[in-house]
Amino acid sequence: MFKPRKLAPLVGVATLALLALPRANAHELQVVSTFSIISDFAKNVGGDRVSLVTLVGPDGDAHSYEPRPADAIAVGKADVVLANGLHFEGFLGRLMQATGGKAPVIELAKGARLLRNVEEGHDDHDHDHDHDHDHDHDQDHDHDHEHDHAKERSHDHAHGHGQPKEQDHAHDHSHAGAHSHHHHGEYDPHAWQSVSNAQVYVNNIAEAFCAADEAGCQSYRANARSYGEMLQALESEIRATMAQIPSSQRTVITSHDAFAYLGREYGLRFLAPHGVSTESEASAAGVASLIRQVKDQKVSAIFLENISNPRLVRQIASETGLKVGGKLYSDALSAPDGPAATYIDMMRHNINTIRDAALGR
Ligand SMILES: [Zn+2]
Repeated sequence: MFKPRKLAPLVGVATLALLALPRANAHELQVVSTFSIISDFAKNVGGDRVSLVTLVGPDGDAHSYEPRPADAIAVGKADVVLANGLHFEGFLGRLMQATGGKAPVIELAKGARLLRNVEEGHDDHDHDHDHDHDHDHDQDHDHDHEHDHAKERSHDHAHGHGQPKEQDHAHDHSHAGAHSHHHHGEYDPHAWQSVSNAQVYVNNIAEAFCAADEAGCQSYRANARSYGEMLQALESEIRATMAQIPSSQRTVITSHDAFAYLGREYGLRFLAPHGVSTESEASAAGVASLIRQVKDQKVSAIFLENISNPRLVRQIASETGLKVGGKLYSDALSAPDGPAATYIDMMRHNINTIRDAALGR
């Protein structure tokens, strides 16, 4: 007997089964990555052994991301979840709780050379709000020693220019209450903006994949090694490009403090109206202070960011006469047809854009 009332749910199930079919390859490691930059590393390490779902896609802002139901489903099915950590993905804790997923969350910044979060705590005023990053800046790098090698020179160079100690002059702390709704960690989370840190992320991914898929381990490690060679070539290229910029022209402005690692590694100084999170409010006093710094300190260029609202950057540019030098990719790659579709292209694009603007090209 035909029972039309029972048909609808069956059709629903059949449709779901069909949708699930293309992914049902039991040989592929199911990987969820929180944002596009990590996904690029994961593709390079995993090759065709992994099936990858990216939560925050190209040009997306992980700081303010709100997960969708599809994200919970992907995380629930994952063998491995790759994340930056350091409180970059504010949504991740909630998402993991909601899914009850059993996949390990691998925090890729683990073992990277980190910068302490200097957004707050460098101020002439006392503030008694309970932030956990009110640190002595002389200890910014006290955990660096086991990793220090050739970077030391540029590191010192950056310090000599006050980076990143003074970059939060631009921040006005009267808005401190606005921070209470989200959490900033002890460290600046944007560690991938250092190529040597990117290598740490890549190695961490290889080990996470090895732990989840022993049969593929040799291939993961070999992929990580060959991608590492490309990262080394990128590092040399960046240093050669940076060498073209005179030291007096190495202070630039971006929208939020996403580039302190780039600054540390390659001797640039970044100022920003927003803090280390795009959710940090910029205040009028902070912007005014930044404009004064532009006038006093010979800031050589100002840039838009792919993930940030351009309004303040345009305002500062128009009030100071500084020409907007292009767009930098901070926390996300571009779409595949854009100039920063991979990590290596992103770093190359950013550093060339900075060089060209700093030199007035
Ligand atoms: Zn950011």
